[in-house]
Amino acid sequence: MFTDKDSFKKVFSESLIGELGRPLEEATGADVYKILSGLIREYAGKDWAATNQNYKLQQEKQVYYFSMEFLIGRLLGSNLLNLGILDMVREGLSELGWNLEEIEEQESDAGLGNGGLGRLAACFLDSLASRQYAGHGCGIRYKYGLFEQKIIDGDQVELPDYWLQKGNEWEVRRADKSVEVRFWGRVDTRYEEGRWVFETQDYEAVSAVPYDVPVIGYGHHHVNTLRLWSAESTMITRKNVASKHDDYYKFLSYNRSVESISEFLYPDDSQYEGKLLRLKQQYFLCSAGLQSILRTFEKLGLPYTSLPDKIALHINDTHPTLLIPELMRILIDEQQMSWDEAWDITNRTVSYTNHTTLSEALEKWPTSMVKDLLPRVFMIIEEIDRRFCSLLLAEDPSNTDRVSHMAILGNDQVRMAHLAIVGSYSVNGVAALHTEILKKREMKSFYDQFPERFNNKTNGITHRRWLIHANPKLKQLISSTIGDKWITEPTDLLRLQDYASDSGFQTQIHQIKQHNKINLAAYIEEKNGVKVDPNSIFDVQVKRLHGYKRQLLNVLHIIHLYHEIRENPSMDRVPRTFIFGAKAAPSYYLAKRVIKLINVVADVVNNDPLVNDKMKVVFLENYSVSLAEKIIPAADLSEQISTASKEASGTGNMKFMMNGALTIGTMDGANVEMHESLGDDNMFIFGLRSDEVLDYYQHGGYDARAIYHQDPRVQRVLEDLVQEGPFSSAHRDFALIYDSILNHNDEYFVLKDFDSYVSTQLQVEQTYLDRAAWLNKSIMNIAHAGRFASDFTIDQYASEIWRIRPVHELIMK
Ligand SMILES: *Cc1c(COP(=O)(O)O)cnc(C)c1O
Repeated sequence: MFTDKDSFKKVFSESLIGELGRPLEEATGADVYKILSGLIREYAGKDWAATNQNYKLQQEKQVYYFSMEFLIGRLLGSNLLNLGILDMVREGLSELGWNLEEIEEQESDAGLGNGGLGRLAACFLDSLASRQYAGHGCGIRYKYGLFEQKIIDGDQVELPDYWLQKGNEWEVRRADKSVEVRFWGRVDTRYEEGRWVFETQDYEAVSAVPYDVPVIGYGHHHVNTLRLWSAESTMITRKNVASKHDDYYKFLSYNRSVESISEFLYPDDSQYEGKLLRLKQQYFLCSAGLQSILRTFEKLGLPYTSLPDKIALHINDTHPTLLIPELMRILIDEQQMSWDEAWDITNRTVSYTNHTTLSEALEKWPTSMVKDLLPRVFMIIEEIDRRFCSLLLAEDPSNTDRVSHMAILGNDQVRMAHLAIVGSYSVNGVAALHTEILKKREMKSFYDQFPERFNNKTNGITHRRWLIHANPKLKQLISSTIGDKWITEPTDLLRLQDYASDSGFQTQIHQIKQHNKINLAAYIEEKNGVKVDPNSIFDVQVKRLHGYKRQLLNVLHIIHLYHEIRENPSMDRVPRTFIFGAKAAPSYYLAKRVIKLINVVADVVNNDPLVNDKMKVVFLENYSVSLAEKIIPAADLSEQISTASKEASGTGNMKFMMNGALTIGTMDGANVEMHESLGDDNMFIFGLRSDEVLDYYQHGGYDARAIYHQDPRVQRVLEDLVQEGPFSSAHRDFALIYDSILNHNDEYFVLKDFDSYVSTQLQVEQTYLDRAAWLNKSIMNIAHAGRFASDFTIDQYASEIWRIRPVHELIMK
């Protein structure tokens, strides 16, 4: 197709003219993006086909990563990088008068996820392909991704994210591979030829149509598949309607209800939503994904007993847990297996990642909803529960409390986490601390029952997107200093330790950071109309807005600092720019008030000449993957200040570390492991430890009001939220925030950690004044970030959970 720059230019120009029917000069950036991305997908097509062919010939074990979210962001840049043609295409385009970075901006973010969980799935796909594993994604092709956030008068306003409007050049629709998914109906049970037969009648059929997106690995011509399912009405129904005209309106309404299944992503993070449509989405993904996987498996001509040797099904959180009863259903009803045989196969095929211990996020579906929507699947869940409970009872007949506590069905609910643990051979947490909390506290009874199932897999991020692509100047510097080995073996970054105190290297690191900060400052000025000083500390908190992430602690500190500087304008303070980005779930009112508060504080601070040269506050709207790629390389300080024990891992923390930001954080999630590598010298740790928090929850003893009365600083910033003054007035109602702290006893311990946060922030400032010391720490952060590369995480999943090896090793064998 093309092999060098000149042939690329030729092929590209011809495609562009051919497609547009107009001379090259008339092409817009959008035209160039469209043609280029289509061309690149075609370019990868040969490798894609070859990879699939190879899997088939080798009868390779395939991993399928089921996730309701894939927050992939833009693909053009990362695909060019992984194909090894980034520089060639950039130069070719440039000679034709186009700037690649500007063309990349034409791509809509595929925002098919809320935050960390969905981004993890995307990083894992990149690592699976780059490490040459046979691992694919299974998800939903939502017509609308996570909402687009606008800030209007300081408030979050949600707009639909119609990301497919301009088309999606990366996907291939595979109508021929459609499958049927069935809802509702009733189960007819009869005894026939020595076995029970279950047949669902009067169900509603939905057609699931797959759209395949190539997942291009780095450097090896290895291309896996992300299969995203879309819901459509079935042909049968359409034909039926054509013969019965009076049902036309019925058909239209059926059609609308079918299409709604893949219409939009639920915009909730860390909060469980018991909506019927969401349950439909989950089953739709599980049933469609599984049918197509089993169809491929059947082509191998092997008996179903070898399924666990050829296929691993992984569920990202409990959202795809229905995979377990659905696989049971197919094995029993369609493959005529016995319960025990089917259970053995299922239990050796499915593995599960837990992402949270927040009780409000644990999925529990009303029994009647599951029973009505999925009658046969529900019968199977009941039987799994019955057998599990009798096993528990047999072990300890007197302990009925334990049984009701661990049961899958209880209080008229289906407890999805229990079903996921009982039906999987592996249950993993996402950071060492999180896994320990699962084992010792939240899921202790399950750990006691199945100790061998529990294991830890600390999250990771792909350094290809978060360093090489997002921060090309840093990549250049690293490679010219320690060579290229780190690109395929990220732990080789450790060699940068030798340069941590090298003043020449420090200067180069500083210059790159300044360059990135100047770029971000320009973006901030363009978007928010605020001028910020690139020499100030860029202090950044970007992540979903949630109580436990404690953006509020950050804002209260800003208000406190504002008072200090105003009262003592000549005080020597290091100038800071506080940068926020965060979406709040549309129904999470308190979180939206915090967004408003940040914006109100920004407005006051940025327009007050008394403090203006020492501090600025900026809220960047619509936090997304592509915005993260702009912000993170420009950060000096990374805010990872969750209430200890609440953040399962965090991955934002790793992205900042890899780009040389220092972290101010609590001993929570993966911060603990970052600290293990970095030590106290290279990280700012403060606040309650997780055991202290958990003990407070268990035994009480925390009194937010007492702190309010003891600490005049706390009193003042809290009163600022409700008393008439610069931050508050009748129409800026922050009483809810105030109440959440003082009247609901501050469930996230904001006040408890306020003092240590403020003093640690002072330490940050002191350190920043000593440029060489700061840069030393910054380099140490980059050097130790390699262990948080998702390549490493994926290697562990592969060898310890899925039992697969990279394909090249198998071929050589
Ligand atoms: C990495 C990432 C997240 C997760 O950030 P945390 O700080 O770990 O919560 C959320 N959203 C986007 C767009 C990301 O890139």
